[in-house]
Amino acid sequence: MGAAKSRVLHRSLRETPPKAVGGDGVWLIAEDGKRVLDASGGAAVSCLGHQHPRVLEALSRQASKLAYAHTGFFSSEPAEALAEKIVGDEPGGLAYAYFVSGGSEAIEAGIKLARQYFIESGQPQRQRFIARRQSYHGNTLGALSAGGNAWRREPYAPLLSQAFSHVTPAFAYREKRDSESETDFVARLAAELEAEFQRLGPDTVAAFIAEPVVGATAGCAPAPEGYFRAVRDICNRHGALLILDEVMCGMGRTGTRHAWEQEGIAPDIQAIAKGLGGGYQPIGAMLASDRIIDTIRQGSGSFQHGHTYLAHPLACAAALEVQRVIDDENLLDRVKDLGGQLERRLTERFGNHRHVGDIRGRGLFQAIELVADRASREPFDPALKLNARIKAAAFERGLACYPAGGTADGRRGDHVLLAPPYISTSDDIDMIVDRLGQAVDAALKSIG
Ligand code: PLP
Repeated sequence: MGAAKSRVLHRSLRETPPKAVGGDGVWLIAEDGKRVLDASGGAAVSCLGHQHPRVLEALSRQASKLAYAHTGFFSSEPAEALAEKIVGDEPGGLAYAYFVSGGSEAIEAGIKLARQYFIESGQPQRQRFIARRQSYHGNTLGALSAGGNAWRREPYAPLLSQAFSHVTPAFAYREKRDSESETDFVARLAAELEAEFQRLGPDTVAAFIAEPVVGATAGCAPAPEGYFRAVRDICNRHGALLILDEVMCGMGRTGTRHAWEQEGIAPDIQAIAKGLGGGYQPIGAMLASDRIIDTIRQGSGSFQHGHTYLAHPLACAAALEVQRVIDDENLLDRVKDLGGQLERRLTERFGNHRHVGDIRGRGLFQAIELVADRASREPFDPALKLNARIKAAAFERGLACYPAGGTADGRRGDHVLLAPPYISTSDDIDMIVDRLGQAVDAALKSIG
């Protein structure tokens, strides 16, 4: 008799993954007792690793007091304290937090808030959004409309909003011409964005949406120096808002609470999720500036949006404790130090590897990109499914990493994304790179 059929609709409809039955810091424990080093924190989620005692204690404390109260009637202590923690000392002027259950919901809320802001500030003609190719903003239809990842959008194209258009991403490895300096590259991207505003009519654009460090679809691709200052200027000049998606790269992952702090700009609206609650509860948030909220407060007086589980008390309590631990244990400094070590070790191991074309990232958010040919940057044939082979070879060796494809629109390349917990040790980082090195070589060997 085979194993009982799973009634859970898993990602793969052909295979049932092993059950995870326990967690222990950076380790996940499978049902057969196998210990797997969680080198990507799932998808850059588990920033404190697993079963952190302080977060478990905070969850149990809150559960024993109050698990749920609908936001139509009540606020809650953890929601108020979490908002104060995240935007109370915000350097960029974001003043309000709207708590939802994940990243896609946060992006949806940001898009709708931008639209409502312009209706209420007497500019109802601002109905267009500009985003970037090769970006990922979530899988709900609004978020997918904003996203620019061709493969994810294709089947749903007839259902997606026509209000979104897409420009070239600031992805140097794939988009910068060899003849161009970084400054020229930024100038070309800025000119393209300006041209898109002109094509649409600058006063019809509500917002530009971008990830400061592109995660799943490009593999930890930060923008070149000056890019975000240039796009902030263009948005300001045309009266459009800047929405930043820090669902994956935010909440300390790159060494500062927000990745935009390293760009010398601030957004008007921001989406956060994953590292906010560290996986202890499903939670995301849309953060918004004073100016936007004040306009709506003086207008209709309410944000025309909502979900049943807004600001869920248990989710807020877990996230509050995660953020307190990050501050109390100085984990942002640790992210910077360990991030430096991770980058150095990746460079030592893969810098001269004939099939690793690029090593990139920030803080504990680093990726390698695999190519068939380093000189031409030609990706491997997608039919070889190299990234899936690397994932399997790594898992066999007790390493969970996040391999993905999609290095260029229309061409699916392969990269491996690493996002270890902030509580990792220096030995954990070495072990991640060693095991990944073995997995990459084994996967390449398997395709001949
Ligand atoms: N935005 C970015 C940058 C993401 O990486 C993701 C998820 O990977 C999302 C949005 C969507 O978040 P969620 O899966 O929580 O809906």
